[in-house]
Amino acid sequence: MPLKSFIDVASDSDFPVQNLPYGVFSSASHPKPRIGTRIGDWVLDLSVVDAEKLFDRSYDFFADSTLNPFMGAGREVWRGIRQQLTSLLSSDSSPLKHDPLRSRAFIPVQEVQMHLPAAIGDYTDFYASREHATNVGIMFRGQENALMPNWLHLPVGYHGRASSIVLSGTQVRRPKGQVAPNGAPPEFVASRSLDFELEMGFLVGTGNELGEPISISQAREHIFGMLLLNDWSARDIQAWEYQPLGPFLAKNFATSISPWVVTMEALEPFRVDGPRQDPAPLPYLQAGPGHGYDIQLEVTLQSGTMNAPQTISRSNMKYLYWSVEQMLTHHTVTGCNMRTGDLCGTGTISGPAEDSFGSMLELTWRGERPVVLPGGETRKFLQDGDRVTMKGYCLGDGYRIGFGEVTGNILPAK
Ligand code: MN
Repeated sequence: MPLKSFIDVASDSDFPVQNLPYGVFSSASHPKPRIGTRIGDWVLDLSVVDAEKLFDRSYDFFADSTLNPFMGAGREVWRGIRQQLTSLLSSDSSPLKHDPLRSRAFIPVQEVQMHLPAAIGDYTDFYASREHATNVGIMFRGQENALMPNWLHLPVGYHGRASSIVLSGTQVRRPKGQVAPNGAPPEFVASRSLDFELEMGFLVGTGNELGEPISISQAREHIFGMLLLNDWSARDIQAWEYQPLGPFLAKNFATSISPWVVTMEALEPFRVDGPRQDPAPLPYLQAGPGHGYDIQLEVTLQSGTMNAPQTISRSNMKYLYWSVEQMLTHHTVTGCNMRTGDLCGTGTISGPAEDSFGSMLELTWRGERPVVLPGGETRKFLQDGDRVTMKGYCLGDGYRIGFGEVTGNILPAK
């Protein structure tokens, strides 16, 4: 029997006692943002747990409006808090079980407003799915040159924009920019090829000093947790701007993230071998097996006229060629310093099957095979009023550990 809490949790909930993700929330009766964990349909206010001295000592960071001080405290503290919360939520003698503390500490999830979980100083997006890189490579360079010669030797990435990272639910304005389709003269228009990218993100818990790279064997100790990430992308702006330097305005208008950060400890039972890496990476990137994560992912699309969302992609994080540890180690190998709260995206997570591709670009093969929605509407790329929602979860023995969702709908260009 899996461990149970005295809080009732539905069997299909993303948030059983085995999960215990962290997020920043506020409520109407207490509008100051603070840190909570989620169990079933409840948020446990950790600033209350701390103030009631239910932890082994006082941790003043749970009253903070970001996870940064908690994340910066390091993995031993993260583990200790998780063990104590597991006990506080499952023990028959828990002081949280009884009123008046119980009704003060637990808030119904529909009564809370979520906030960005972290103060994100820097954001980097990788390109770690071989299937995604191959698909895009075929479309832009042809079958012969699909993967660039460096791709199998290092996790490719680019430095993104942290200021436009928004929380799930934030509406996304269609960007305007320069486009030059098929060699036509450039024009300034609203993007006609707005897309999503299905990604996971990971938050750096503890960073490294400038000039002191994080070794592959230490990388996991630095990662606090993961969340869902939608890297909104304007493909027509991207096609015109990205040579020779890479993504710029095509990706800087919005990146959406889910509010609950699922810890690496909670995800530990779901580690799996990733794809075999051939050629073998250089020694500084060699991590051995067991560095993938079996996280089922899905994308739904709901147009303004549809009554319910339609699933348009099912993928899995285990398909990623490069691991999160390899991404973090490679990022710092020059001595680049990561800081608490830095966010890294994995890049679009596409699987081998056509219905597992993680972007409209791939699902419609650059618009050649439009997605057909119930009711007969078709999509090559996203239209105004479309809502894109991504979900992710791991299936355990008798429970599931999920990420909730990241959602956003498209507003017309201004
Ligand atoms: Mn991306």
